[in-house]
Amino acid sequence: MKKYICEDVDKNGNPISGSGCGVINKIMFNGYPFGDRMLENVMFEAFIDDNNNISVQTANDWNNDPYCKGLNKDYWLGLATEYAQDLDIATCPKCEKDIDGQPK
Ligand SMILES: [Zn+2]
Repeated sequence: MKKYICEDVDKNGNPISGSGCGVINKIMFNGYPFGDRMLENVMFEAFIDDNNNISVQTANDWNNDPYCKGLNKDYWLGLATEYAQDLDIATCPKCEKDIDGQPK
């Protein structure tokens, strides 16, 4: 699992310390990379605890979303959990900017 820090970068691409939302322990990601068009626009959330454990949930409400209702939730959550272990790019849940995963 990587570390995710939401921060702005200067014109040279260097992070500006203290900018943005800071270290975040909840990230969002799209299902497209592992689900292809089937999971396009289906979002997942990953929570990272202090011990670096990750738990993944669906961000869309699958019980009330007519499209998601037809999907195999357990199956896709399993793939999403695997995928989330080493995400290079995730979305900040606060400002919705893309953030890079950094080695811990
Ligand atoms: Zn942010």
